[in-house]
This record gives sequence, structure tokens and C-alpha cells, in this order.
Amino acid sequence: MKIEDGKVRIGATTTLYEISRTFLHSDVRFAGFVDTWKKFGTLAIRFSATIGGNVVAGTQYSDYATLLLAYNANVKAVSSRGERSIPLEKFILDKRITDLRPDELVKEVEFAIPPQGSSSSFVKFDRRELLIAGIITGAFFLTLEEGKIRDVKIAFDMVKGKRAPARSHEVEGFLLGKTFSEDLIEKAAEEVLPTYMERITDWWTTAEYRLDMSKVALRRGLLKCKTRIEKGVI
Ligand SMILES: Cc1cc2nc3c(=O)[nH]c(=O)nc-3n(C[C@H](O)[C@H](O)[C@H](O)COP(=O)(O)OP(=O)(O)OC[C@H]3O[C@@H](n4cnc5c(N)ncnc54)[C@H](O)[C@@H]3O)c2cc1C
Repeated sequence: MKIEDGKVRIGATTTLYEISRTFLHSDVRFAGFVDTWKKFGTLAIRFSATIGGNVVAGTQYSDYATLLLAYNANVKAVSSRGERSIPLEKFILDKRITDLRPDELVKEVEFAIPPQGSSSSFVKFDRRELLIAGIITGAFFLTLEEGKIRDVKIAFDMVKGKRAPARSHEVEGFLLGKTFSEDLIEKAAEEVLPTYMERITDWWTTAEYRLDMSKVALRRGLLKCKTRIEKGVI
């Protein structure tokens, strides 16, 4: 892992444990990495699971992929033909379907270092605390400037028409530039989120419950970012 040209660059074979030993777990601008780590599988798996594997797996359970979407990350792919950079948002096409070509490997994942006044959070709900796939997950990134939302990025385990992690641009667009308040977040959760969020019913739980929990995640996730920015601690 390195910082270069204003970017955080994480090599594809970096394990989650290795990430946990870096500034991504101590700098408040990256606080969502700590949340994701705490909710990820078990400690044993965190020692071997890599960031590259998480992104290429490309399922709604790929927690680091969801978090990295909130950082607007890019994926660098290499082959004997050279290197190319793909926005993660365009890299994960659908569940277990990525833009990676048969002769390519993922070399690294990179994203811009956020400015001061930024933080992130990751929310994962299930019936247990550990070794969970997540009934729903959400990742939130926020930059505040004098109380105004200068930047906001929101990703969920799935959104309308895609069964894989994706951004929710509609909610981001609604919040951007406005003054942060609990009323605003409430409106975003109750009025804007349901217009694009399409949840599914399966053996695990209902679409209605998933939608309700997505609203809760949005509220909690953004409020957590704000508290972290104000207090400067994770
Ligand atoms: C018990 C258990 C619990 C889990 N809990 C979680 C969880 O809480 N959250 C979560 O997100 N995931 C979880 N996982 C899934 C998995 O551990 C993670 O997705 C992990 O990050 C995958 O990384 P890996 O290095 O093991 O990849 P692998 O499983 O080895 O690879 C995944 C896929 O990516 C391909 N691949 C790997 N690296 C590259 C590369 N550099 N370039 C091109 N292709 C590549 C592989 O060929 C394979 O198709 C869990 C898995 C288990 C078994």
C-alpha cells in the first residue's frame, strides 16, 4: 500500500489484516475501513482475504467493494497488452460479473485522498454480529464545509436493476450542496431513497424489511460520518 500523487494505492494482494495495520485504520478520513473490518467474516479469514479478491468476487456481499465505491475507487487491470484503469462503478457489472478480461489480473485499487473535513462509515445489518453476509450493507462518505455537504457518496450492497454493490447517485444528488441536518437526512431516507432502491424478498427476509433497514443504514451512516468529522476520532 502506498500514497502517491494524492492517491491511496492498495495492491491487489494486500490482505485485510495488512490494511488494518496502516493509516486507513487510524485517520478519521478513512473510518469506514475500521467499520468494515469489524464486520468482516472472522479474524482468521481477514488474515488471508485480499482486497483484489473482494473486488473481483463482485457480489452484494463484497463489503470492501461497497466501501470502495463510496471512495469512488478505480481498479487497475494488467495484461501482456498493458495496463488500464476502470472506475470500480463500471468494473462491477452485476453479481459475479466484472469488466475484467480473460487475460487480465487486477493489479491494484486506488482512490483520491479525501480532504480534511471528510469521513466515512460502513453499516452491515444481520441477525448476528460476526460471520454474517448482511441482510443489507451500506457505505457512506461525507465531506462537510461550514456545515454544508461539499461531497457525499453512498453505496449499497445492491440498488435498482443491479444485484451487486452500486452507488446511489439520486440520494447523493439530493444531498449535495445542502446544509447537513437530521431533517434533511430523514427526507433523503424516506422520500428519495425508496424511489431508486429496489429490494428483493428471498428465504432470508422480505424486500420491505430490507428497504426499512436501508433507510436506517442511510441515517446512521451519514450521522456517524458527521460525528466523526466533528470529533476527529473514529
Ligand atoms: C466464511 C467466510 C466468510 C466471509 N465473510 C465475508 C464478509 O464478511 N465480507 C466479505 O466481503 N466477504 C466475505 N467472504 C468472502 C471472501 O473472503 C472475500 O470476498 C475476500 O476478500 C476474497 O479475497 P480472496 O483473496 O480470498 O479472493 P479469492 O476468493 O481467492 O478470489 C475471489 C475471485 O477473485 C479472483 N481474483 C482474486 N484476486 C485476483 C486478482 N488480483 N486479479 C484477478 N482476479 C483475482 C479469483 O480468481 C476468484 O475468482 C467470506 C468468505 C468466507 C469463506
